[in-house]
Amino acid sequence: PVTAQLVASRVLDVPDFPKPGIVFKDLMPLFADGAAFREVIDDIVDHHGRDSFDVVVGIEARGFVVAAAIAYATGVGVVPVRKAGKLPRAAYAASYALEYGEATLEVHQDAFTAGHRVLVVDDVLATGGTAQATLDLVERAGGTVAGFSVLLELSFLNGRDRLAPRAVHALLTV
Ligand code: IMP
Repeated sequence: PVTAQLVASRVLDVPDFPKPGIVFKDLMPLFADGAAFREVIDDIVDHHGRDSFDVVVGIEARGFVVAAAIAYATGVGVVPVRKAGKLPRAAYAASYALEYGEATLEVHQDAFTAGHRVLVVDDVLATGGTAQATLDLVERAGGTVAGFSVLLELSFLNGRDRLAPRAVHALLTV
């Protein structure tokens, strides 16, 4: 598909970032290309259908970029899921294991109207820990997960299995 090629041609492999042995997928060239960025945003909206969600959640930080564009394109609002300690009011927290240590994400307790259908987006799906914690937070805050999209899925890390039976929409899977 055209969008998969678009993502593939605008991702850079950065060896040994953020740690030795890790190849970081850098999607900044895709974000920086206006025509390509618009096309991937439209593709995500078309995949789910513009009437299938009431609000869009972006995961800090690159997910914010994707979420804001989808929100503007469809006329819905955007809710941030943030790293611990950044939100100013009462928040739910979800922690998950990293290779070394732990990470915590938060969402405001009043972020969603009960039953609101939530589209969750991020740039990259790797092990799935981030997505799993986010989906958990959305449900605890009273939202209903309507869909989950990423620009790029790293399939060898099996993040998709961790989210099953929920569907994962990835513009490009490598
Ligand atoms: P996971 O929790 O292991 O699935 O990691 C996904 C989260 O880490 C997402 O929020 C991504 O933005 C970030 N991430 C992990 N690996 C990469 C990468 O290679 N490029 C860009 N972001 C990444």
